[in-house]
Amino acid sequence: MDRRDRLFLSLAQVRKAICIDLRHYHPQVFLCAQILPLIAEDRVAKADGLKNGAWVGSAAQRHLRWLPGPELVETVCRALGEARLNPERWAAICSRVFQTRAVPHADPDTGGEGVWLETGMEGFACRQCGRCCRTLEYRHEATPEDMARWREAQRSDILEWVGVFPGVDGHPAYRLWTIPGTARPAAQCPFLHKAPSGSRWACRIHALKPAVCRQYPFSRKHAMMTGCPAFQERRRPGAAGTGGRRPPAVRHRVDRHPAKV
Ligand code: SF4
Repeated sequence: MDRRDRLFLSLAQVRKAICIDLRHYHPQVFLCAQILPLIAEDRVAKADGLKNGAWVGSAAQRHLRWLPGPELVETVCRALGEARLNPERWAAICSRVFQTRAVPHADPDTGGEGVWLETGMEGFACRQCGRCCRTLEYRHEATPEDMARWREAQRSDILEWVGVFPGVDGHPAYRLWTIPGTARPAAQCPFLHKAPSGSRWACRIHALKPAVCRQYPFSRKHAMMTGCPAFQERRRPGAAGTGGRRPPAVRHRVDRHPAKV
């Protein structure tokens, strides 16, 4: 397993990563209803996917309270912030949230408590469908490291598409991709082009592309939630179809996901 296949998170990082995941996508109501009782054992939650929310209460309560999806997510994040859980329980929650194997472990450097998390990225095979570049939100910021690489490589053709704006704490913010000489965002990534061979798309700055592009997707779940087909089994010519079933990796019940992140 290489470094991309698993990562170590301290318990503080685990807590933060779970909340980022829950807030990142459309409310994952089934997932929230699953993990709430793991965070607080006296809680019960019953998700309703059609109404996009859940009935929530304590085991002792006769009446449950209806929480719409966004409120449910915030309730779970609040509960996570207050929870005092052991590493085994954090690993169990991680496993559900990130849909992968998670193992409680000591920090290899400091000995502090944490969790090893598999990313599930070992089966990743990009199909160059261009979906991520064309349909996901790309108006992110470049990192100072991105800027340093482009300056070092003297890539003024890239730098001219980066908007420089006042950021927090007096540091500049580098906005991708901004029409040169203006503050207006480009309609689409200026470095994406369709390969002459047909349906594939290619990145003209692949070796130097921004960190946000290099890191996509950062996990198997991220790919699944954002429509990346890189983990789907390729159909061999003449092979029988799946009969409409989802491939095994995504056959479990999934919450809805947005077209853009
Ligand atoms: S959506 Fe996935 S398979 Fe398609 S180009 Fe992006 S990373 Fe590759």
